[in-house]
Amino acid sequence: MTDSYDYVIAGAGLAGRSLAYFLSLDERTCRRRILLIQSPDAYPHRTFSYWTDGEPPLGLSSGAAYRRLRISTGSTEETYELRQYAVRMTSSREVFAAMDQQLHGNGSLVIITGRVASTRGGHRSGKITLEDGRRFSADYIFDSTFPPDGLRPKLMMHGEGWHITTPSPSFDVDTATLFDFRTSTEDAVRFFYVLPRSASEALVEVTHLSPRAAPAGMDYAKELTDYLKQVWHLDDFRVAATEGGTIPLALRPPRSARRVIPIGTRSGIVKATTGFGFTRILDQSRQISESLAAGQAPTYARSAWRFRAYDKPVIGMWRHRPSKAAGFMGSTFAANDADTVLRFLSEQTTLAEERAIAGTMPVRELLDPAIWR
Ligand SMILES: Cc1cc2nc3c(=O)[nH]c(=O)nc-3n(C[C@H](O)[C@H](O)[C@H](O)COP(=O)(O)OP(=O)(O)OC[C@H]3O[C@@H](n4cnc5c(N)ncnc54)[C@H](O)[C@@H]3O)c2cc1C
Repeated sequence: MTDSYDYVIAGAGLAGRSLAYFLSLDERTCRRRILLIQSPDAYPHRTFSYWTDGEPPLGLSSGAAYRRLRISTGSTEETYELRQYAVRMTSSREVFAAMDQQLHGNGSLVIITGRVASTRGGHRSGKITLEDGRRFSADYIFDSTFPPDGLRPKLMMHGEGWHITTPSPSFDVDTATLFDFRTSTEDAVRFFYVLPRSASEALVEVTHLSPRAAPAGMDYAKELTDYLKQVWHLDDFRVAATEGGTIPLALRPPRSARRVIPIGTRSGIVKATTGFGFTRILDQSRQISESLAAGQAPTYARSAWRFRAYDKPVIGMWRHRPSKAAGFMGSTFAANDADTVLRFLSEQTTLAEERAIAGTMPVRELLDPAIWR
């Protein structure tokens, strides 16, 4: 027998859970029958960093809010003041806890555990089958399961983060180090993040970008230890927790089959040049929920073509000329107001601002045919 729902949401990570959350929040959709399918695997909890020009979303705690950004390219190190934005940090644990209060109060929402085996879209409904044979149909199926079959991202962002504590004050709590390329070499281009929680606590992350797949056998622990030693002169620290994972970038989403809508990373919404997806996924879920509440087919604003076009050479640089990427990033921040660069990365700049940013980019790097391959 097939149980039917108004909406089935496959995958209860950030995208699936936030869609269920926004649907539960709105009185026009909260009584619709919603099925949320969560994986039997434990969720690999992670830190989300993001920037905002207002309060944190979802009533999240203010936590750390950085008004200064440090960018180190290897040959230059600059700190930029932010006036519009604050860079913030939260965790999937905190985000899920904020959403779960709403979800557990919604009597029309059913949460089950199971692994999705397949989905099928039809004219009037979608069908979903779990590995244990249970089947469901719905007006719409929202699919955030991962990885999609035949995944072919152009780039993989991968790495590891350590939550460390130091015995004495080591960090400036107002400054986020977003890109530190200092220990890169021609062979190993990578950057580090340092997001302090207090003067003696920070999340330190190493990030690599590789074409297609993350190579096996990466020694992130050594890279983090060497970085902390060489750059921060830290020998004495304790690793309180670790996290890690892989983000596929510039992913061409699987084709939407009428009633089966990809959401979250699966939909290709993670920003191709930065790996940032947190606020984009919240916006996607909010917009899908609003369209359904208005009685329309589910929809959300895709990246404008021009932002996809701007991303292209940067992705090409990461893929084919990675050692140039640090200088490119550094010169873009150096020649522009940092808030404007963040607004550009959020795809909220005007054409005039984009023209001004483009005018400051090193043309020689952009003329390299290799990055347009
Ligand atoms: C390690 C890491 C760090 C990141 N850090 C940031 C950051 O700092 N800032 C930022 O903006 N973005 C960040 N991102 C990018 C992005 O915001 C997150 O990946 C975000 O969690 C994506 O949400 P999602 O729902 O698409 O995927 P997920 O949150 O990963 O959720 C997918 C869910 O689907 C489940 N699932 C998969 N297959 C099946 C199946 N067959 N059946 C049932 N369930 C299934 C999974 O178990 C999981 O629970 C990060 C990503 C990673 C991997």
